Amino acid sequence: MSNIRRGVWTNWAGNQTARPSAVHRPANEDELSAIVSRAANDRTTVKALGSGHSFTATSVTTGAMIDMSRLSRLIAVDRAASTVTVEAGITIADLNLLLNGLGLALPNLGDIAYQTISGAIATSTHGTGRALTGIAAQVVAMRVVAGDGSVLDLSPEHHPTLFHAARVGVGALGIVSRVTLRVVPAFRLRAVEGAQRLDDLVEQLDEHVDGNDHFEFFWIPHTKWALTKRNNRTDEPVSIPSPFKHWYAKTFMENYAFGAVCRLGRARPNLIPRLATALPSTGQSTIVDESYRIFASQRLVRFVEMEYAIPREACGEALQRVRRMVDERGHMVSFPVEVRFTAPDDVPLSTASGRPSAYIAVHMYKGTPFEPYFRDVAAIMADYDGRPHWGKMHFLGADELSRLYPQWEAFQQARQRIDPMRTFANAYTDRVLGD
Ligand SMILES: Cc1cc2nc3c(=O)[nH]c(=O)nc-3n(C[C@H](O)[C@H](O)[C@H](O)COP(=O)(O)OP(=O)(O)OC[C@H]3O[C@@H](n4cnc5c(N)ncnc54)[C@H](O)[C@@H]3O)c2cc1C
Repeated sequence: MSNIRRGVWTNWAGNQTARPSAVHRPANEDELSAIVSRAANDRTTVKALGSGHSFTATSVTTGAMIDMSRLSRLIAVDRAASTVTVEAGITIADLNLLLNGLGLALPNLGDIAYQTISGAIATSTHGTGRALTGIAAQVVAMRVVAGDGSVLDLSPEHHPTLFHAARVGVGALGIVSRVTLRVVPAFRLRAVEGAQRLDDLVEQLDEHVDGNDHFEFFWIPHTKWALTKRNNRTDEPVSIPSPFKHWYAKTFMENYAFGAVCRLGRARPNLIPRLATALPSTGQSTIVDESYRIFASQRLVRFVEMEYAIPREACGEALQRVRRMVDERGHMVSFPVEVRFTAPDDVPLSTASGRPSAYIAVHMYKGTPFEPYFRDVAAIMADYDGRPHWGKMHFLGADELSRLYPQWEAFQQARQRIDPMRTFANAYTDRVLGD
C-alpha cells in the first residue's frame, strides 16, 4: 500500500516519492469539498491518493495530498438496476468482499485487488476478456468535487459530456467522491493454467481469445514458452484439489521462489536466460473458485511495469517483434511479458477507446535498469498506435498522446469546465495532458 512516513509519500513500487505540503484525510464529502475550495482560493493544488499502485508520477505533488481511505463506505445497492454505489476510496479487495456478501460481483477485474476503485478507474485499469471492457466502462454514474470545490453529479442524464470524459480522468477531472458501478450476480470461474509454445499460441490466438471468457498469457523471455490462463464461468462448486499445491504454485513459486530468481538475476544478469528455462511448467492446473478470488493474485515481488494497448489484430506480430528485439538487443529480462485482451469502449481516454485491444505488458525487477528495454518495446508499440497505460511507466507526452485518442478534445473540454484553474494539476498531468 502507499506510504507516508515522515512527510514523504512513496508508491508501491518504490520508484516515486513526493513531499506534499500537507496531507488531509476527509471523513465525508463536505470536508473533501472544503479542502478543494481552500486550495482553489489559495491558488494551490491537491491530489487524491489511491493505494499508490501506479508506477507513474500520477500522484506525485508538492501541493496537498488527500488520503481518501476514510471515504470507503457502501452508499446504495439497486438490484433492479444491477448497480452499487460506493465511496471512492474503497479498495477493490473490500468492494469484492462486500459485493460477494450481497451475492454480486464486478464482471471483470485486473490481476490484483489492492487498488482503490477510483484509482483504478482514473488510469483505465482493465483485466482480460474479449467481450468485456475495463473497469471505467462499468461506471454508470459518479460524483466529483470540481476544481472550485463544488460538487457535481455526473451520469448520462446529468452533465453527460462531463460524465463521458470523467470516467478515465487521469486524476485531472475532479476528485471522485462516489461512484456507481454496474454489477452482475456473483459467479464462479474455472481456471485452467498450462504451458504452450509461443509460436503455436500466436498461431491459435483468435481461438484462445474468442473461445474463453477471460484469456491471458505470459511469455517467458529467453524461452519459446508461454504460460496460459483460461478462466471460464462455471456452475461447478468451488474446488481447489490440493490447497497445499495451490499455495505452493501461487504463493511459493509465484512470489518467494520467483523473487529469489529475480534477486539472483539482478546480481548476475547473464544467468537470466538459464534461470528462465526453469520457469515454464509442463503440467496443467485446474481450480474452481469465486470470480474475485480467481482474478486477484498476491504480488509480493516488487517491480516496475510498462503496458501498451494496441489493436487486437496486431498482437501476434507485435509480440514476436518484442521477442526478436530482446534477443537482438541483448536485454536480460527475468519477468514474463503479460498479454491480455479487452472489448472496445467509448470512454475518451480509455486505452481501449474505440478499438478491440490487446495489452502487452513488460516488467523489470525492482532495482534493475528498465529504461533501455522499455524504450525498445515502446518503439515497437508506436508502430501500432500503441496507447500506454496511464498508471504504468511510459515516455510519451501530450503531443504524442493527443494523436492516439480520437476523443482527446472532448476530454480537454471537460477538463476546462471541471478544473479551469488546474487545482488538480501536477507535473505528470502537465506532461501527459498538457498545461
Ligand atoms: C502489482 C500491480 C498489479 C497491477 N495490475 C493491474 C492490472 O491487472 N490491470 C491494470 O490495468 N492495471 C494494473 N495495475 C495498475 C493499477 O491498477 C493502476 O495504476 C491504478 O491506478 C492503481 O490504483 P490506486 O488506487 O493505487 O491509484 P493511485 O496509483 O494511488 O492513483 C492513480 C491516479 O488516480 C487518481 N485518483 C485516486 N483516487 C482518486 C479520486 N478519488 N478521484 C480522482 N482521482 C483519483 C490519483 O490522483 C492518480 O492520478 C497494477 C499495478 C500494480 C502495482
